[in-house]
Amino acid sequence: MLPVTDRTEYEHGDIFDIIQKGNIDQCAHIIQLDRSTLKQKGWSGFTPLHYAAYQGNRALADLLLCNGADANTPCDAGLTPFHFACRNGNIYIIHQMLQHGADLRIVDHQGKTALHHSVAGGNIFAMQYLNETGMFSFADTDKFQITPLHLAASTGNTDVIRYLLRNNRCPADAMDQQGVTALHIAAEKGAAEVSWLLLQEAGLRILHLKNRNGLTPLDLCRQGTTFRHVLLDSHVAIGLRRCYSAHSRGTWGLRVDFLPAALPLVWEKHSLTVSQDEQLSGASSLEFSATALLHVSVVHFIVVLWMFWKVLTKDPGRLQQGDADPRFSSIMSLVEANQNPSKFCIYCEIFQPDGCKHCRLCNICVLEYDHHCLFLNHCVGRNNHRLFVVFILGMAAAHLIFISSAAYYLFTKYSGPSRPAWAAILESEAWVLVLLIMNFFTVIWECWLLTEQFEAISMGTTTYFKRCESERRPLWQRWGTVLSFLLEGKRTTPRQRRSSIAI
Ligand SMILES: [Zn+2]
Ligand SMILES: [Zn+2]
Repeated sequence: MLPVTDRTEYEHGDIFDIIQKGNIDQCAHIIQLDRSTLKQKGWSGFTPLHYAAYQGNRALADLLLCNGADANTPCDAGLTPFHFACRNGNIYIIHQMLQHGADLRIVDHQGKTALHHSVAGGNIFAMQYLNETGMFSFADTDKFQITPLHLAASTGNTDVIRYLLRNNRCPADAMDQQGVTALHIAAEKGAAEVSWLLLQEAGLRILHLKNRNGLTPLDLCRQGTTFRHVLLDSHVAIGLRRCYSAHSRGTWGLRVDFLPAALPLVWEKHSLTVSQDEQLSGASSLEFSATALLHVSVVHFIVVLWMFWKVLTKDPGRLQQGDADPRFSSIMSLVEANQNPSKFCIYCEIFQPDGCKHCRLCNICVLEYDHHCLFLNHCVGRNNHRLFVVFILGMAAAHLIFISSAAYYLFTKYSGPSRPAWAAILESEAWVLVLLIMNFFTVIWECWLLTEQFEAISMGTTTYFKRCESERRPLWQRWGTVLSFLLEGKRTTPRQRRSSIAI
């Protein structure tokens, strides 16, 4: 705290500079000298609390509110500090203002509510918080019939668009005073993803809705000259419905594509074994049992293929409502517990327990989330983590068998003092050598992957949450944890807990 000095040291106007710099001590000192400073208005009629809310400075907002700053004082445009807080999206400041008497019913000179401002700011936690108060409807309009969806289309925030369209919160075809829909705005901007979401919700019919100027969204899109407009126009022209059906097949397409890609990894071992069988049968000096290796390879191939199928199709551990964190039932309860708002999944709208994460690619919350495997195009989580690790072990074993059998084959066939071994290998067995090298590098990659996995498992967590885990345990205990996980599927230590953060 700064020493109390003569009040003439600070002019009243200085408080805005001090707030802009975020200097809380100096701000407290000025308030201590003269509380009327809190009501002082600066540029455009903003009070100190307007600035603190606009910046999302929680400590400063707390200081001003606790000293009597009014969250309902309008600026020249009719916006209150509470509107600014909603636009900034800091739910702790919003909550604090409500505790200090912020009025949810106040609208600005354009008739925009706090919910409008939170949508314009793009913070879904703030929107959810305001929705929980029961004072707002997502279909509310301002004086110009502008809905929250119009504002979201203007900002191009696709997460907010999804949130507003979910559960019919906001009608996708709502028109403002000028007959403009959210799709008109998105098409004019060439926002393909926003347009796509709106069309998915409302259907192609909204493409033909005309505004007061007689223009449809497609007309507005065609007036644009950027690449985005051309792209959007072409997508609409060829039929977005067809694109959608193709899109919905995409996930499986990737999975099926991976299958033939994975097969050669296993098959190459098989084919080499057959080749070995043929070639080794003529070499009486070899003691290598090619038939036995073939049998082992076939069984191994079937087992790995089965694991591959299981890890592809098994639910990774989708978070259901019954598994949601029971401590929280609303954003307000999160705020009161001073928890990280990200515990609320804005896509599934569910409170995540520890160790859970939303996967944007799978569009689900996954319990004990490890990672989204791009090769499998599938999440790895609580239900399939052990299977995934065993699958990688199986793959590594397949590659090691191939490397050892190929090396043994080359060694026994081409070793000898009278032969130029390397020249002969390169001449007649180059493909074996190439496959051997490829398998060698694949094994290195698999070993790295397994090391990462084992390290995380030994710490009782997953690779995604490993960075949060600081607990270090003896080596024997860590290996015991890995074995317990592989044999029984159990993690022997509590998973990492998300520490609450102060914002
Ligand atoms: Zn989710
Ligand atoms: Zn995923």
